[in-house]
Amino acid sequence: MSIKIDYELCSGCGTQDEPPCIKYCPGDLIAVDSEKEKPYIRSERDCWDCMVCVKACPFNALETRLPYQLASYKASLKPQVYQGRIVWQLKDARGKEEVFELKTSG
Ligand code: SF4
Ligand code: SF4
Repeated sequence: MSIKIDYELCSGCGTQDEPPCIKYCPGDLIAVDSEKEKPYIRSERDCWDCMVCVKACPFNALETRLPYQLASYKASLKPQVYQGRIVWQLKDARGKEEVFELKTSG
């Protein structure tokens, strides 16, 4: 599995030296393409799908693509973090969406 970046939603985080997706990836797997001024993942196979970058993106531009064996091609999972809750958006291979909302302590 790996993340997918939606370049329509990604702002590049403007003038920030280190956009949140880069800052918080524990594996240092995301870098900025200096020409496009947008991030990319250096090595998809090294991503272990912790989703820290997905949660950190303020523009909801990242998602986790679920593996074919688990959920078929194009299925995705996107957590969004809010004060006191987390919302999980699950999209199956046919595009059907389900949303799960859980309370959190933070
Ligand atoms: S945090 Fe989100 S909007 Fe900012 S550069 Fe990364 S993917 Fe793009
Ligand atoms: S899912 Fe985790 S390991 Fe993979 S790129 Fe994002 S922060 Fe890094």
